[in-house]
Amino acid sequence: MTEPLAQGRVIGILGGGQLGRMLSVAAARLGYRCHVYDPAPHIPAADVAYAVTNAAWDDQAALTAFAAAVDVVTLEFENVPTAALDLLEPLCPVRPGRKALAVSQDRLAEKTFLRDLGLQTAPFAAVDRAEDLAQALGQIGAPAILKTRRMGYDGKGQVRLESADDIASAWAAMQGAPAILEGVVPFTHEISVIAARGSDGAVAAFDPGENLHKSGILRETRVPARLGAGQRTDAILMAANILNALDYVGVLGVEIFVTPQALVVNEIAPRVHNSGHWTQNGCAVDQFEQHIRAVAGLPLGDGQRHSDVTMTNLIGDDMDKLPDLLRAPGTALHLYGKPDIRAGRKMGHVNRITPLRG
Ligand code: AMP
Repeated sequence: MTEPLAQGRVIGILGGGQLGRMLSVAAARLGYRCHVYDPAPHIPAADVAYAVTNAAWDDQAALTAFAAAVDVVTLEFENVPTAALDLLEPLCPVRPGRKALAVSQDRLAEKTFLRDLGLQTAPFAAVDRAEDLAQALGQIGAPAILKTRRMGYDGKGQVRLESADDIASAWAAMQGAPAILEGVVPFTHEISVIAARGSDGAVAAFDPGENLHKSGILRETRVPARLGAGQRTDAILMAANILNALDYVGVLGVEIFVTPQALVVNEIAPRVHNSGHWTQNGCAVDQFEQHIRAVAGLPLGDGQRHSDVTMTNLIGDDMDKLPDLLRAPGTALHLYGKPDIRAGRKMGHVNRITPLRG
């Protein structure tokens, strides 16, 4: 168990988007100050953080000064370049650590890690060259999804193959990047488990949420998810298993496909997660506070849910609905302070709470 971080200490956050913003607010509630590092100039976290460094991921002087100014480093963005972490790690504790990032930055390493843990994944094969794709499709069968191994999010860097006729165009879409081919999982619905592990190894999971995506972007998370009691337990145990195997400290999101036969893990996110925003109004201790508690070496909250919740993302023109949302009963609004509204851009979210059923 790490010594708890004293009041007034500084938590460094790599990335200053909306997740960094909500982490900074949670840290302030616990008496800490956040210093955010982000290459972009106008970032949502800057409105609420104690300090901001606006510098590139390869700016060694800025990274060194950042490490000297903070007591512990965490992140809200898993694609922080490895070289930046190499520089930071000897100077300052980084939580969660390198292993979780290495696994989640590369879809092939991630799927291999999950399979080796005994968890079910979609069938997959590495595709490094055009020739590999025909062979992989022969092995996995159509339909299948070709994804870049690195830097994919919100369905970006993905192409669906309906048959061998799509091989040439799908490979061209990867633009030479190493890829992974996955079999299409015939899921009935998608869920995620948001769970935390403390520096003492204790684990606390939130109830699984059910996720609805549109155009590859999360639209809505509903809690409780449609799951039997046994499936719910299995989903939570999967997350706990992953946290322990990574010797993880902090909050992790696990995305899972539900099929009539099995729970199939899609991917993991080594950070607080959009599908965990419902916890802000559904639990006494939300995912942001839970993450800060873990990173600061404090005991975790219990993750207990006091309400049913529907979280809806406000994307682009959804902001036109604000006047109605402000009048809606049982509805909490969380905006990210982004000045310009753009199509596909996450501007905020709302949590609508209703009494626990049953
Ligand atoms: P990802 O970027 O891997 O999270 O994928 C984005 C979305 O694409 C998922 O939430 C699913 O809706 C869909 N998807 C990704 N991989 C698969 C798969 N192997 N089988 C079925 N649907 C998938």
